[in-house]
Amino acid sequence: MRDPRYDILFEPVKIGPVTARNRFYQVPHCNGMGRTYPSSLAEMRRTKAEGGWAVVCTEEIEIHPSAEHSPWAGGRLWDDRDVPYHARMCDGIHEFGSLAGAELNYGGLMTASRFSRDIPLAPSHHPVASNDPVQARAMDKEDIKSLRKWHRDAALRAKRAGYDLVYVYVAHQLSTMSHFLSPYRNHRSDEYGGSLENRARLFREILQDTKDAVGDTCAVAVRFAVDELMGDYGFTSDGEGRDFIEMMAEEPDLWDVNISAWENDSATSRFKQSGFQDDYVAFVKQVTTKPVVGVGRYTSPDAMVSLIKGGKLDFIGAARPSIADPFLPKKIEEGRIEDIRECIGCNICVSGDHHAVPIRCTQNPTMGEEWRRGWHPERIATATTQESVLIVGAGPAGLEAARALGQRGHHVTLADARAEAGGRLIGERRFPGLSEWGRAVDYRIYQISQMANVDLYLKSELDAQAVQDFGADQIIIATGAKWTMDGIGRQNPMGITIHEGAKLLSADDVMAGAVPDGPAVVFDDDHFYMGGAIAEKLLKAGCDVHFVTPSAEVSSWTHNTLEQHFIQKKLIESGANLHLSQNITALHPGEAVLECVYTGRETRLEGAVSVLVTMRRPVDTLYQSLAAAGTPNLTRIGDALAPGTIAAAIYSGHKVAREMGEPEVMGVPFDRELSELSQNWRDPNQVLPLPGAAE
Ligand code: ADP
Ligand code: SF4
Repeated sequence: MRDPRYDILFEPVKIGPVTARNRFYQVPHCNGMGRTYPSSLAEMRRTKAEGGWAVVCTEEIEIHPSAEHSPWAGGRLWDDRDVPYHARMCDGIHEFGSLAGAELNYGGLMTASRFSRDIPLAPSHHPVASNDPVQARAMDKEDIKSLRKWHRDAALRAKRAGYDLVYVYVAHQLSTMSHFLSPYRNHRSDEYGGSLENRARLFREILQDTKDAVGDTCAVAVRFAVDELMGDYGFTSDGEGRDFIEMMAEEPDLWDVNISAWENDSATSRFKQSGFQDDYVAFVKQVTTKPVVGVGRYTSPDAMVSLIKGGKLDFIGAARPSIADPFLPKKIEEGRIEDIRECIGCNICVSGDHHAVPIRCTQNPTMGEEWRRGWHPERIATATTQESVLIVGAGPAGLEAARALGQRGHHVTLADARAEAGGRLIGERRFPGLSEWGRAVDYRIYQISQMANVDLYLKSELDAQAVQDFGADQIIIATGAKWTMDGIGRQNPMGITIHEGAKLLSADDVMAGAVPDGPAVVFDDDHFYMGGAIAEKLLKAGCDVHFVTPSAEVSSWTHNTLEQHFIQKKLIESGANLHLSQNITALHPGEAVLECVYTGRETRLEGAVSVLVTMRRPVDTLYQSLAAAGTPNLTRIGDALAPGTIAAAIYSGHKVAREMGEPEVMGVPFDRELSELSQNWRDPNQVLPLPGAAE
């Protein structure tokens, strides 16, 4: 049962006309589903309510076609036809006694309206934030009236859909109200520009409109970034950020406060610890009597209690901790703290949103799969026939497969050659800033340790004979992958010419502790975190580092985890020599041959040792020899099948556990949200002949 120390977290809190059943508040977060995948969205949010979050909010909901984010898959309440999918989601949230919150937004400058082709509106003429060749138009008084009406209409629709909270969104520089508020975006000379009072006028009007429209039954919440981390150029928590809250202190029913921009609000664990926003938002409760929610990747109930008792917050806000563990509140309530699947702060969840595909999470392989695959984060079908399963490799894939198969009731033996479980994460969690990633291993090792039917054997390298002798009913090979040393990769499909005497280290060598004995050349043709992390590690070890990449920037894929800017800044500040838009074509002893990716012009770079970060190859000899011997019931998962992200490896381990012993699904193995025209067309399992093919 619940530890009485945590009772305070389960107190109900009144928010205007509604009451939250406890202090766990899932703040708005993007998910790559929105209006595009509404059934997936509804089930994901419903699962959060089931897991104990007293308030479950949406992502941004567009209120008008002139500010739309296509192809981004967010919410929409343009007209009444959008109401039913919201109603379905609200019903799911209400099923568990939670409150549903709608984050209405007019994005203006943040949108290029690629789909509608309408012109976005802004306080002043200005190019939109993306680099689309689109400019937002300065609003006149009629436009201001229109925007107020659109927001009011959307609020009424939100109320009809069943929402209990309606947001006026003025955070992250993502809404036109925040653009009006901004000293650097609002260049107006009328009563909507100039002083803070004037810049806040549109916000004040819209807040009042919203309260008048829906405030009788819905709480009206305001989301505001108290600090933009831009110094006096923008809002600061001891400048206008504070002045604004003081000015509006008692106006909304709830303050949802944070810092901006998004990459600061959703900072990764590589750059910020849990609780990184506390100092910025702590003042808010001093200046308002209204409930305050704040975020900071909180996963520890003790830290949560001290925030509440310390008078810093009324609600524990969470986006990522609620994604990694939708049942976090329930686990605290049931006294199962050790079962919390803590967010590792990697922002893979953000990447789904960036690509307009359903959200995914490294820690929680069921995230985004609740509806389309019917995966629940806590429940999994008990196996009809309990089998003995041997898993070789205790990396993320093997560990998750063992955990989930154990949960299903199978007898699992997990063996790994190394003295420590974790596979790739043994090295990666020791990179500067990445220690929290180790939670993906620790959570699983603990869960497995609690299962009598799962045994973990370390220092147990298995060959094909040993695997066959073991005699398991099912064999899963999760032996991972290794970074290659030949340079084959995106830029060099034929590899790099490596001359005799050239000194090389692999990424795995560096992870294992190898340090170059002279200037190092790190060649990053991978573009995710590995190249940058290796450079950072070597710089810390005192090496002179040359970072070479064919990309125009460092670790370019990390835009999708909101880290690119921070990584490049870190490398520059740590003294790395950056060679951007440069390929490496050949390595000589002590020298790398660089080639400009645009002109082909060659230069020579002195470097004693090169570290190539280009691609990985599966470690699959064990699988291949077992397969060649015709071993039955043999599967491979994770990086041993195809090297990918840690999230993909954990997903792969989870999937094999879900599917083992279940009938094979014919056709597309997950539900799809088909267009109206596709409904009732033909039997979805029927294979349609290609046009022109003989019947
Ligand atoms: P994934 O990301 O797919 O989980 P990892 O590379 O992280 O893969 O982990 C693979 C693990 O498999 C490593 O810990 C490695 O020690 C282990 N391993 C590889 N080959 C064998 C083997 N023949 N016997 C036992 N363990 C092995
Ligand atoms: Fe946390 Fe990473 Fe999951 Fe996002 S993807 S919720 S950051 S563990």
